[in-house]
Amino acid sequence: MDKKDRVILTGDRPTGRLHIGHYVGSLRRRVQLQNEGEYKKMYVFIADAQALTDNIDNPEKVRQNVIEVALDYLSAGLDPERVTLFIQSQVPELCELSFYFMDMVSVSRLSRNPTVKTEIQMRGFAGESIPVGFFTYPISQAADITAFKATTVPVGEDQKPMLEQANEIVRRFNNIYGGGKDILVEPSIMLPDSQACMRLPGTDGKAKMSKSLGNCIYLSDTPKELKTKVNSMFTDPEHIHVEQPGHLEGNTVFTYLDAFCEDSDFEKFLPDYKNLDELKAHYTRGGLGDGTCKKFLLNILNDRLAPIRERRAYWEQRIPEVYEILRKGCEEARAVAQATLDDVRRAMKINYFDDVELIQEQAKRYSLSKK
Ligand code: ATP
Ligand code: MG
Repeated sequence: MDKKDRVILTGDRPTGRLHIGHYVGSLRRRVQLQNEGEYKKMYVFIADAQALTDNIDNPEKVRQNVIEVALDYLSAGLDPERVTLFIQSQVPELCELSFYFMDMVSVSRLSRNPTVKTEIQMRGFAGESIPVGFFTYPISQAADITAFKATTVPVGEDQKPMLEQANEIVRRFNNIYGGGKDILVEPSIMLPDSQACMRLPGTDGKAKMSKSLGNCIYLSDTPKELKTKVNSMFTDPEHIHVEQPGHLEGNTVFTYLDAFCEDSDFEKFLPDYKNLDELKAHYTRGGLGDGTCKKFLLNILNDRLAPIRERRAYWEQRIPEVYEILRKGCEEARAVAQATLDDVRRAMKINYFDDVELIQEQAKRYSLSKK
C-alpha cells in the first residue's frame, strides 16, 4: 500500500494524564508520522466511553481527564491542522457499529483475549462481576478503527490482540454482508521499533507502566517530580556496591535508556562513554553506580520533556480553544463515521427507506396476492 493512502488512527483512555509509556509506545510515533506527512488522514481520539466501562463509580475522573489527554496531545506536538482530534462518545455511530459487531464474536472468543484477561485480573473483577461493556471493549475498539476505515494503527504491544480481533470481525462482516466486496478495511498494527518501547515497565519495575497501577512518569511531571521518580526507580536489587557487576535484565533504568537514549546524549550528558553499549558493558562488568545511570537518564528525560512542558504551559492558558479544537474534530470525525455507517447499513440491507427495490418488491408481492 502506498504510504500516502494510509488512514492512521489511535486513541487513549482518559483515565489519567498520559505517561512516557504512551509516549514511546504510540504518541511519539504519531507525531513522527504527522510530521512526515505521508498519509491520507490521521485521527487521534479520546476513548471516554471505553474509560467508563471500568470507571462507572467515577465518571467525574473520566470527564476531567478528557481535557488532560487533549492537553497532552497538543503538548506532545500533535497539530490539529494535520490530525483530527476527537472524543469517542461524540460519535454515536461508533456505538451503532459496535452493536452490529456484537453478533460476530462469541463469548469464548472474547474470553481468550490475553490483554482483557490480564486487565480483568488487574482490576480485581471477580468471576462474572465484570461489566459487560468492559468485557466487550475489544469489539467497541474494532468499531472505532473500522468506522474510519483505518489502515494503520500505531500502538503498544498490549493492543495486538485487539487488532487481531478487529481483523477477524472485518473478515466476518465482509464475508457475510459484502457480496464479494470489501465494505470494511482490515487494519494493520504498527508496533514500536524497539522491544523496550513495546511495553514500557513502570518505575517500580512492574510489567507495564499504567495509569491504573500508579507507577508512571507523566509527560506533565515537573522537573522536581521527575527527579524524585527517577531516583526511586527499580534497578538491580543485587547491585549493592558500585564494584559489583550489575544486571541489565529487568533493570528499569536501562530499559528506559533503551527507549530514550541516543548516541548524541553521551556527548551532551556523559562524555566518558560513546554509546549505550559501552555504558552497559561497564555496568555489567562492575564499577558503575546506579546513581550515575539515573542521573544520565534524568538528563535525557528532562531534555525530551522540556519542549512538551513548554507547549503544555501554552495550551493550559487556552482551554476554551482546546475544547473548540475537539468540537471541530468531533464534527469532522462524525461525518466520516456516518458515511461508513451508510455503507454498513446498505450492505446489511437495513437501509429500508432508501431501498427502492425492497419497497417495490413488497408492493408487487402484495398486489399479486390480492389478484
Ligand atoms: P489504563 O490503565 O486506563 O488502561 P493505560 O496507561 O494502559 O491506561 P491506555 O489508554 O490503555 O493506557 O493505552 C493507550 C495507548 O498507549 C495504547 O496504544 C497502548 O498500547 C499504549 N501504552 C500504554 N501503556 C504503555 C506502556 N507501558 N508501554 C508502551 N505502550 C503503552
Ligand atoms: Mg490500557
